[in-house]
Amino acid sequence: MAASGEPCRPGRGEAAAVVVVGSCMTDLVSLAHRLPKTGETIHGHKFFIGFGGKGANQCVQAARLGAKTSLVCKVGKDSFGNNYIENLKQNDISTEFAYQTKDAATGTASIIVNNEGQNIIVIVAGANLLLNTEDLRGAVSVISRARVMLCQLEISPATSLGALAMARSSGVKTLFNPAPAIADLDPQFYTLSDVFCCNESEAEILTGLTVGSPADAGKAALMLMGRGCQVVIVTLGAGGCVMLSQTEPTPKHIPTETVKAVDTTGAGDSFVGALAFYLAYYPHLSLEEMLKRSNFIAAVSVQAAGTQSSYPYRKDLPIHLF
Ligand code: ATP
Repeated sequence: MAASGEPCRPGRGEAAAVVVVGSCMTDLVSLAHRLPKTGETIHGHKFFIGFGGKGANQCVQAARLGAKTSLVCKVGKDSFGNNYIENLKQNDISTEFAYQTKDAATGTASIIVNNEGQNIIVIVAGANLLLNTEDLRGAVSVISRARVMLCQLEISPATSLGALAMARSSGVKTLFNPAPAIADLDPQFYTLSDVFCCNESEAEILTGLTVGSPADAGKAALMLMGRGCQVVIVTLGAGGCVMLSQTEPTPKHIPTETVKAVDTTGAGDSFVGALAFYLAYYPHLSLEEMLKRSNFIAAVSVQAAGTQSSYPYRKDLPIHLF
């Protein structure tokens, strides 16, 4: 067993340490001077395609920090799906359980952004919603041998719940990010979460409380922990995060450093992916130290444009993080 602070490195041929069961979305982004009115066609001035989806984003961040990762997901048997699988491979993520289906298109987010940075977005989850418990059974060999299993809510909630139950029954640590939040979340999500990590607006939806400060986040975290999670983390954007655990039941604020944010899109996914990495490879670090480091990594991500394109690689980060 590694001493405190030392990494638990994977052996050769070892199974993926971080397994994510989650979504892949292709972002289709058009920049226009203004948003079109109903029935109107306007010219935009720039278009680009990006790789998104909370599951893939979090997996990419963990992989870029050096985690051995596998993504259990479903994309369409179409060009977006093929390109997405290639993107995962380029990030050194195992695609052994990246399923492709003819029955739905790869998930897409069609996004129009105006000069003021306002946007309209239509998400079609498509193939993501077809990832089912049978697919999970097919991936049991990788899920049951992980150190950490991570999931969110951009796939069917029943599949996320099945993944949490499968991991828990194999003694795998579970990290759950309830995003996008649903008000009437099945109570089992709490009892099956070793670590439950949400942002302020998700905490508000889940608790009905207003969350605008670290003190508010602490109250929300207490309520969420009362529902059965072992650890609750509420992220606060530039305010860092608040943590609470069954063993340290007084909420603690972990501030982050002030940086000049360029684009905060996907910061939450960078944070959660980094946390999964630390839980898997540095399990003897204190939770507070893991969160300080995850804050740092997410703060790096907000200083560059884009989502996955802004996520840092291990080689570009200070050595004291590893
Ligand atoms: P998003 O939806 O944009 O992915 P989120 O709302 O899920 O993000 P946030 O709480 O905004 O998540 O941010 C997650 C983490 O990212 C924070 O806990 C913090 O560590 C870091 N972060 C976000 N914004 C900033 C910022 N402006 N400066 C420094 N760190 C930031």
